Amino acid sequence: MSLISSLYKSLYKITNGNATIEPEELCCYAYDATGQTFMPDVVVFPVSTSEVSQILALASDHKISVIPRGSGSGMTGGSLPIKGGIVMAMSRMNHILEIDTNNFIARVEPGVVTGDFHKAVEQHGLFYPPDPASSAFCTLGGNLGECAGGPKAVKYGVTRDYVLGLEAVLPSGEIIHTGVRTAKGVAGYDLTRLIVGSEGTLAVVTQATLKILPLPASVKTMAVLFQTIEEAAITVSSIIKESIVPRCVEFLDKSSIDCVRDKFGFAVPDYINAILIIEVDGSVQAAAQEAEKIKNFCISKGAEQVILSSNPKETADIWSARKALSTALFKIAPNKINEDIVVPLSSIPEMVRRIEQIQKRTGLPIVSFGHAGDGNIHCNIMYNRKDPKELTLAESAMDELFAHTLELGGTITGEHGVGITKMKYLPKEFGECEIEIMRGIKKVFDPHNILNPGKIFKNS
Ligand SMILES: Cc1cc2nc3c(=O)[nH]c(=O)nc-3n(C[C@H](O)[C@H](O)[C@H](O)COP(=O)(O)OP(=O)(O)OC[C@H]3O[C@@H](n4cnc5c(N)ncnc54)[C@H](O)[C@@H]3O)c2cc1C
Repeated sequence: MSLISSLYKSLYKITNGNATIEPEELCCYAYDATGQTFMPDVVVFPVSTSEVSQILALASDHKISVIPRGSGSGMTGGSLPIKGGIVMAMSRMNHILEIDTNNFIARVEPGVVTGDFHKAVEQHGLFYPPDPASSAFCTLGGNLGECAGGPKAVKYGVTRDYVLGLEAVLPSGEIIHTGVRTAKGVAGYDLTRLIVGSEGTLAVVTQATLKILPLPASVKTMAVLFQTIEEAAITVSSIIKESIVPRCVEFLDKSSIDCVRDKFGFAVPDYINAILIIEVDGSVQAAAQEAEKIKNFCISKGAEQVILSSNPKETADIWSARKALSTALFKIAPNKINEDIVVPLSSIPEMVRRIEQIQKRTGLPIVSFGHAGDGNIHCNIMYNRKDPKELTLAESAMDELFAHTLELGGTITGEHGVGITKMKYLPKEFGECEIEIMRGIKKVFDPHNILNPGKIFKNS
């Protein structure tokens, strides 16, 4: 019997039949949002920490790779089985175990869909801020793996700011508990923060204790239309100086607007070249005052029009246009390289100028949108992968984009992770010494390199 057949038999037994080697099922777990595909040998669907532990112990004994997977919506290949092996799909571990309204915490399994968790806490008058634009289908486990952000990060931070503690399983099968259930805690090294954002390479998270907040009483949403991209960029970089911290400042350039023009719920004139979606929250009075102040500020910076939403339908229309963007881009070209660079706020206008120069030099459309309020711009280099000339140009555009980002004091990724697509650029951001420490940490957690190998570091 081959190794895979015998492993499959054992996995089938551990999970009471929740494992598969059928090719038509395996291919559903072979892809992610990069559009790349790698077939796993087996997919297994554990339902408990004990099953996760037994699966990892078995894989460790046989030195076979295990790749944790949420919904596969990652943008950098984190959940791809690039060396085959066992994909561990966390979809059956999808329970909200506890919402503690007295202590403002929740305990969840990793397969809970992020948007479902938002709705569940909101029913208790509570609020979980991390909200990637994929929240309707991505999972909390994937958010922990990537340290996902989203529009509200400007005011509320990212996933790591809401994780108090974890239950996780090491590649050896040992179960560990990190962090606290309290508001504070500094005992020992912070293993929780180490695992969050580790892209499924250190341990498989089986439970998370998350911090939640009271739901703000009022939210005001506005769309601000500009004739020039420079005016929008300068507004973003100076808005926080007004002593107001909006909860979102999202940016759409002209090409983005063209892709979703019919979805805003209001007419966008053709001469508009940039839109900011700005949201403030707080008490009814504070949100109304801040919205008015931001509206006047935007007009003073050259905004052509400010459309303040007056009801939930108008707000939903503005956001559905923004959320439709990522997929609507394929109207422009069949392939995209999606980067999520971050630059200091004051460098946004300069970065926007440099992106325009790259666009002119390569002739490839580069569509920019994203969470500009925290300097995180999603740059999408649009091209046709089957055209060798365009492929070379797209790769050179990416090299230039990262070079400019680092020169301006930024980082190569704000929330999508390194995965396989940005491995080449990690040594441009960190020196040998830092990368050796990271590789050393990986070795301590995973001496046989069985957990999600080939990610983050070259030749890993
Ligand atoms: C349309 C669209 C919009 C997006 N918008 C945003 C956005 O605004 N902000 C943002 O941050 N991201 C965004 N993303 C990227 C993506 O949705 C996020 O990275 C998300 O966190 C991935 O969740 P997932 O469940 O799909 O995880 P997957 O893609 O399945 O996995 C992501 C990583 O987490 C690891 N992982 C999964 N589960 C576990 C676990 N239990 N334990 C350990 N590791 C685990 C995987 O191995 C992998 O490395 C977007 C993606 C799309 C397609």
